[in-house]
Amino acid sequence: MDAAEKVMSLIKNSVIIKGLEQLQKKIAESSGKIVIITHFNPDGDAIGSTLGLKMALARAGHTCTIIVPNDFPAFLKWLPGAHEIIILPRNKAKITALIQSCDIIFFIDFNDIRRMKAISLPVSQSAALKVLIDHHPDPVVKVDCMVSDTSVSSTAELVYRFIVNSGLGNYIDDDIAVCLFAGIMTDTGCFSYNSSSPDTYNTVADLLRFGINKDRIYYRIYDNFSFDRMRLLGFCLNERMEFFPGYRTAMLWLNRKDQENYNFQTGDSEGFVNYPLSIKGVRFSAFFIEKEDHVKVSFRSKGNFPVNTFSANYFNGGGHLNASGGESYETLESTLEKFRRLLPQYRDELNDYNE
Ligand code: 5GP
Ligand code: MN
Repeated sequence: MDAAEKVMSLIKNSVIIKGLEQLQKKIAESSGKIVIITHFNPDGDAIGSTLGLKMALARAGHTCTIIVPNDFPAFLKWLPGAHEIIILPRNKAKITALIQSCDIIFFIDFNDIRRMKAISLPVSQSAALKVLIDHHPDPVVKVDCMVSDTSVSSTAELVYRFIVNSGLGNYIDDDIAVCLFAGIMTDTGCFSYNSSSPDTYNTVADLLRFGINKDRIYYRIYDNFSFDRMRLLGFCLNERMEFFPGYRTAMLWLNRKDQENYNFQTGDSEGFVNYPLSIKGVRFSAFFIEKEDHVKVSFRSKGNFPVNTFSANYFNGGGHLNASGGESYETLESTLEKFRRLLPQYRDELNDYNE
């Protein structure tokens, strides 16, 4: 087995489909009230998937509302329908009422109930039919219907298949195609990872046939940062990066003061964690950002180093094999120190990899 095959054999893909026919029947037979929820710190896949799904279901006659546990970055706010998304912590009473009175709840792009933060309480008290559509491994969400496939690039790709499979393909138009394309593009780092399946490109080809402007979607998302954000990135790479060549690892961090100095806005640090991976030889990258009451942690890796289990073991998190996140409730300094102290035990694993 060569190195590439070894890596592939370690990436365990699994597909879980349950209760799908019952759900599709319910959707086809009567129009109802549907709530669509995605995870805390929504990213491009979370927002693109929920918007695409919402538009398809709304056109089929359902009353649909998207709810998110916190605000999402400005570079996603131009997506069709994004201004109608209901955001916590504002709108708490409205969100509780919507969840209590709906017939179906969709959980989109997450595998653990805790990722909904405060929304998980009203959800646990709701009698609605619950549905999960997701591509993270080992889902632990109790639902009536589950479409979980870790082999797909993104939840947006899965949502596209779900829409078509549910007989709603005729409702897809350029707005839906834009949202789903944005989800696939952002979750694959513009087709640089999680995107080796030909199926992904068949989906993308289908979406492009709706006449969407792929280049415009790219620059509206990636060339949409403020001057302050660009300077913050420069500062972070210059002043807040530590390189551990012996462990093929690099980390970045930002404290509260750094964020204030550069007028930090939601989403400004999106993608920072990827930069260290472009240093030759680096295969594990970490980013720590000090929030009001915790430190948000992001990990990325190349090859078979499982950052999802690393995050689950030490930083209360999870995610994918090569992209994960978590939270630390210690100070920034002790969180960084904890990370530094963990590296030696992974020396062999981190060095057992050929590019
Ligand atoms: P990011 O670093 O971009 O926030 O997240 C990368 C991946 O890790 C995403 O797939 C996301 O769903 C997952 N993730 C991020 N933060 C958390 C977290 O706090 N808990 C868990 N379980 N997954 C997370
Ligand atoms: Mn995703």
